[in-house]
Formats: sequence, C-alpha cells, structure tokens
Amino acid sequence: MEIQEKNRFVEFVKKYGIFIVVGIVIFAVALTFTLVAALHKAVPTGNTRLDFKSPMNNATVIKDFSNTELQLNDTLNQWEAHLYVDFASEDASVNSVLDGVVLKIDEPYLEGKTITIQHANGFTSIYSSLSDDVLVKVGDTVTAGQKIAEVDNTAAGELAMGAHLHFALKLNNNFVDPNDYLDLQVK
Ligand SMILES: [Zn+2]
Repeated sequence: MEIQEKNRFVEFVKKYGIFIVVGIVIFAVALTFTLVAALHKAVPTGNTRLDFKSPMNNATVIKDFSNTELQLNDTLNQWEAHLYVDFASEDASVNSVLDGVVLKIDEPYLEGKTITIQHANGFTSIYSSLSDDVLVKVGDTVTAGQKIAEVDNTAAGELAMGAHLHFALKLNNNFVDPNDYLDLQVK
C-alpha cells in the first residue's frame, strides 16, 4: 500500500513536475518584477524636476559647471574642473533654491563665506562667496526663494571674478550639474 502510494506520487511528479517547476519560475519572475517596480517608485531617479527657484534674481551665468572639461581659473591661473555654477546679478540677494534646513555655515579659504542647505530627496545646495552678514543660522528652516544672504567677493579662489555667487548642488553627497535640475539661463 505504502509502496503503491509512493509510486503514485512519483507518477504524479513525473507527469506534472514540469508544470510545478514552470509555475514556480513564473511566480519568482513576477515577484521580482513587482519588487523592482516598487523600489523604482520609492527611490527618486534624480531626474524628477522639482520646483527649484533661481539662487539669484535676474542672474547671468558667468562660469558654468564642468566636471570633465577643464576651465581656466583667472585668479589661481590654473586649469581646473568647476563643479559649481557662478552667477552674477545687479541684485546681490541670494535665495534658497528649495525648501530646506540650514545645515552648515562656514568659511573655507578658497570658497569664502558659505551656507549649506539640506533639502528633501537627498539634495544639498551650497552657496559660496557670500558677504559675512548672512541672514540665517544653522538649524533655520528656509523656504524656496527665501533670501538667505548677499553675494560679495569673499572667495579667495575666485577673487578676479568680482562679487558673484559660487553655487553647487549635491545629490546624495555627490556634485551634480545644476543645469539638470534648475533653469539657470533664465529668471
Ligand atoms: Zn565658481
């Protein structure tokens, strides 16, 4: 009796085993697709166009972002990558590009007075060559477009450029091209 049952089981597996295997494979593939789709939704791709405001009013880009092509730095007289975008404007106001919280205020020698703001989705914005009397302090909450400081000529590494904003955007702590996220040539 037991042997007969075993044989029936073996027969069953022989007959339908392939369907069971195919079923498991289809289930696994479907589960993988579902998980990948869910992860994709949860993690921002970085190409989402958030509502960034311009860091300066009526600004002109005087030196653009470049991570591969070297640009001449007139002040230091050397060719270098420029992971920043430099803005000049008749209006000295500097504005936060997104809602956020002031993370750091410091004064690195080459960049001058600098404010770093933490935003949602892993973005950080960095504003350098500011005048000393900044309008915010660490821990302050700021809104997109809010004036946080004025530009000056405090960046020792870019003195020859005059008063301007030396601006950078980071995503998950890596420099990114602000042109991918902000409409820099207008406003
Ligand atoms: Zn610069």
